[in-house]
Amino acid sequence: MIPVTRLPAPQELLELLTSGTDRVVKKGADSAAADSVWGSSRAAKREIRVLLHLMAPAIQRCMYCLDSQGTDIDHFQPKALAPLRTFDWLNHLLACSFCNSNAKREEYPCDDETGERLLLDPSVDDPADHLTLLPVSGTYDGLTVKGLESIKVFDLNRETLRRGRVRMFRLCRDLLPLWHAKVRRGDLTGAGETALVLREEPFGDVLRTLYRRARTPTIADLTYGPELGAALVEWRNAQA
Ligand SMILES: [Zn+2]
Repeated sequence: MIPVTRLPAPQELLELLTSGTDRVVKKGADSAAADSVWGSSRAAKREIRVLLHLMAPAIQRCMYCLDSQGTDIDHFQPKALAPLRTFDWLNHLLACSFCNSNAKREEYPCDDETGERLLLDPSVDDPADHLTLLPVSGTYDGLTVKGLESIKVFDLNRETLRRGRVRMFRLCRDLLPLWHAKVRRGDLTGAGETALVLREEPFGDVLRTLYRRARTPTIADLTYGPELGAALVEWRNAQA
C-alpha cells in the first residue's frame, strides 16, 4: 500500500453527493436506505469513479493491493455501519473486486476502548508508518496494531500478491540500472520511457520501499550493491 492523494470533489459531484445523502435520510438513514439509494445513483457513481481513477496508483490499480484493476468504489467505512457516509467523498476509495468483496467486505476494526480506527486509509495515513515490506519475499509485516489489522483485513500477504511483489522487485533490480545508464549518457527520452514502465507497473509499493531505503549513497551501496544502489539514490533524488 502507498499513499494516495485525494483530489477535491468538483461542485457538480458535491451536489450529487448532497442529494444522495438527503435521499438516504428521507428513507430512514439505515443500512437498507443506504443500499437502495446507492444502487440507483448512477450519475454520482460515474463521477466518483472518474475522480478515483485519476487518483489511483499506476494504471487504475486497486488502492489496497496495488495489483488488480480498481473496478469497485469501496466505502472505506462500510455503508452498513455508517449509512450517512454512503455519499461522503472522503469515504470513497478504489478497490479491486477481490479486495472489496472477498477480503475487506464489511470489516472496519476499531479499538474497543478509544474507538480509534484500526484500518489503514491510504488517502489519510502513510502506510509506511504502519507496515514494512520485505521486497525479496514480497511479504508485509506490521509495525503497529493498525498495520497488523490492515494486513489481516486486506489479506495483504496472499500468495498472488507476494509473488507479484517478488516479480516487481526483480523488474526494479533489472530496469533501474538501465534507467540510470540512460540518464548518465543524456538519453532523457529513453530514460523517461523506462521510468514510465516502472511507474505504471503494479506493486508501486515495492519500488517505493526500495528507494526510500536508499537514504544515502553508503546505505544504498551496502544494502543493494553499487549498481542498483547508485540507481536508487538517483531515482530517490528525482522524486524529491
Ligand atoms: Zn485489490
